[in-house]
Amino acid sequence: MPIIEELTIFVPSIYRESNMSNNTYPSVLLIYTGGTIGMIENQETGALEAFNFDQLIENVPELKRFNYCIDSYQFTPPIDSSDMEPSLWSKLVKIINENYNKYDGFVILHGTDTMAFTASALSFMLEDLSKPVILTGSQLPIGKLRTDGKENLITAVEIAAAKHPDGTAIVPEVCIFFENHLLRGNRTTKINAENFNAFRSYNYPTLATAGIHIKYEFDKIHKPNPNLPLKPYYLYDTNVIVLTLFPGIQENIIRNILNTPGLRAVVLKTYGSGNAPQKPWFIKLLKEATERGIVIVNISQCPTGMVEMGRYETGLHLLDAGVISGYDSTVEALITKLMFLLGHGKSDKEIRELMNQPIAGEFTKI
Ligand code: ASP
Repeated sequence: MPIIEELTIFVPSIYRESNMSNNTYPSVLLIYTGGTIGMIENQETGALEAFNFDQLIENVPELKRFNYCIDSYQFTPPIDSSDMEPSLWSKLVKIINENYNKYDGFVILHGTDTMAFTASALSFMLEDLSKPVILTGSQLPIGKLRTDGKENLITAVEIAAAKHPDGTAIVPEVCIFFENHLLRGNRTTKINAENFNAFRSYNYPTLATAGIHIKYEFDKIHKPNPNLPLKPYYLYDTNVIVLTLFPGIQENIIRNILNTPGLRAVVLKTYGSGNAPQKPWFIKLLKEATERGIVIVNISQCPTGMVEMGRYETGLHLLDAGVISGYDSTVEALITKLMFLLGHGKSDKEIRELMNQPIAGEFTKI
């Protein structure tokens, strides 16, 4: 099991009146990992640098107007999400698991760059989750006048605390909330480095839209059994790679990649509905790799739509070579699911079976 570094510290609650108890007031644990939302401009270099959680919260006094108990954890130091690592996904799982019974929901403040990877990984590592885990962040630091961070944070907290009249959570799954849209975490991809509307779920509908009201799409939201206990998982194996095809890709490069010592799985980004070159050397290299036990999953370079390897001859060759379908998964979901399954000692046969069925709503099974 990977060593979990002690990178977080408990911060006194943002808002908890002395008479508040978690039994009577909605309670949310806010976990601050870093990202633009909590950054400030370095006056000398002009670069954005992380500042601490207290400064961040000072900029959102509105949070205190919720009648919620809001406690917080912060990563020390806060990180740009380009530095996110699987060991920190395990750290997040540990924090959520240790605090699971104390809170109604969890909000993770995270940089946007790798937010979809973290959301995807957590969706696999938190089995039988029956409480909301909402990731959010912003494109502009919270201290800027035009920041999108305030609205994102405030609405994410409200969603994390939202319950049905019977006391069960309205959104009991790992989601990303950004610019008015609540999206299933493992269906989401960052698509924009400029606009506030930074995330998209191409192949699964929005779970909720925040306007004057927060309008939930109840039939799209996962319905877990709230009586099952959370099963946290901490292991992963990073011997995986994403390989994007392009016209002119060279045999020796593909051979070297597929023969990398220790390599266990490849996400192969193909064309259209899952098509790839028919060149004999290419198919032979893939076949040899799958015969050595390397799991190769086919995903399209088109963000919308589904891999259908039986549709064209160019896809059929891949099936013959032992390549399996990634259906309409995102790259983020596929790579993190592979790391998760490999890390739990599954055989390549088991992995191939589990890749063929959604385990956290990550693809559409036809
Ligand atoms: N580089 C930042 C990060 O991902 C960008 C952001 O937060 O939007 O941490």
